[in-house]
Amino acid sequence: MNDPHLQAIQQLKQVARLLKPQYEEPDRFDAAIEQLTEPDLLLSGELEIKLDNGKTKTYTAYRSQHNNARGPYKGGIRFHQDVSESEVKALSTWMTWKCAVTGIPYGGGKGGVIVNPRELSDAELQRLSRAYARFLADDVGPWRDVPAPDVNTTPQIMAWMVNEYEQIMVENGTLLENPRATFTGKPLEYGGSEGRTEATGLGGVMILQELAKARSLEPKETTIAIQGFGNVGYWFAKHSHDLGYKIVAVSDSSTAVYDPSGLDPVKVLETKEKSGSFKKAEFKTAKKITNEELLELDVSVLVPSALENVIHAKNASRLKAKYVIEMANGPTTPEADAILEKKGILVIPDVLANAGGVTVSYFEWVQNLHGYYWSRDEVVAKLEPLMERAFADMWRFHQTDKLALRMSAYMSAVKKVVDAMMISGVV
Ligand code: NAD
Repeated sequence: MNDPHLQAIQQLKQVARLLKPQYEEPDRFDAAIEQLTEPDLLLSGELEIKLDNGKTKTYTAYRSQHNNARGPYKGGIRFHQDVSESEVKALSTWMTWKCAVTGIPYGGGKGGVIVNPRELSDAELQRLSRAYARFLADDVGPWRDVPAPDVNTTPQIMAWMVNEYEQIMVENGTLLENPRATFTGKPLEYGGSEGRTEATGLGGVMILQELAKARSLEPKETTIAIQGFGNVGYWFAKHSHDLGYKIVAVSDSSTAVYDPSGLDPVKVLETKEKSGSFKKAEFKTAKKITNEELLELDVSVLVPSALENVIHAKNASRLKAKYVIEMANGPTTPEADAILEKKGILVIPDVLANAGGVTVSYFEWVQNLHGYYWSRDEVVAKLEPLMERAFADMWRFHQTDKLALRMSAYMSAVKKVVDAMMISGVV
């Protein structure tokens, strides 16, 4: 079984070996890398929750604050039965890189509770969310650590956490700063940002546009297959279709639909919603294929937007796409990565491709701090230059050092973090 934190450390050491020659003070560089192998702080504790049947149950909770050289810790909270200390530490490390890739002024954090939220009623879920906010209260804040939703946590859960956090500050007499800016991914009615829902998919399409410019791709000749048609997959499909790209296949967990003459994502969503799943839905021209077949279609761009590890050692050699844009987190295993590189398939890594979401979370924080709210168009106009610049930073390393894009994005990110640590004198 893979140890995710060990994997994060191995990646960091690999990047460090390539970056080190650029530094005139190797000892300080080594000290920075050493510090980055462990989080600055790991909180863990037991949350005791009263269940609806009157009994109590305890759940293990974590928060990892990896590094704040570039700004407050930032990262989601996951409610899942597979949460572990190693996973939380690794995810907080990857958040440090993701924030650095787009240049937003945050470090990396991540939290989680070992729980299957589907076993809880709404009232129990609310009690767990509030208990988690209490567990975090002393160590978060707009200038300290800014959590957000992740797997199985929602805008509603963020609203409960913010409300609890506000109450704690009132109880302690410490309501000095803007408490809403402590959590992002909140509902619009409670301090959320316009444009957040579509931000991850839209940010990915901005990256697709940059790739198209770099590789002279014509939208109408560029075919796209998207695995997953949830928040991220749908918005990626919608925005790329609006720009003239040809979506030929999409899928959900039940099955995939394929139409080489092109699909209209809005109509596909309507059809799916009528029957509840792609398996039950009836399409006029599109045919049903399996999720495995979708991954292996002969398309220009493959966009995994559902699960981790779907491109692995067994299927990587069968992929026919020219490009993979990783909208899901961690869809390609390290073994598959090596196979794709050999085949000449360019993989735009998740730390860049899906960074539109955290970038608009950053905009939400800015709006909360100022008490001044932007329109959806303003949000989009501010997102675009950040995604373009992040792509350019990655592409530069790719062109000059002849590195795979994932390594190029990591080089760009780790350099920004190490430089901040050095210039501030922490190493
Ligand atoms: P979602 O729950 O809205 O959608 C997930 C989609 O994947 C659904 O269409 C579901 O049917 C499909 N799916 C589930 N199991 C599948 C399977 N076995 N095969 C094929 N499809 C399957 O989730 P989302 O918010 O769209 O997130 C998708 C991915 O993007 C996740 O990896 C998530 O971590 C990542 N991500 C999301 C955001 C965000 O802002 N939502 C930001 C960054 C990264």
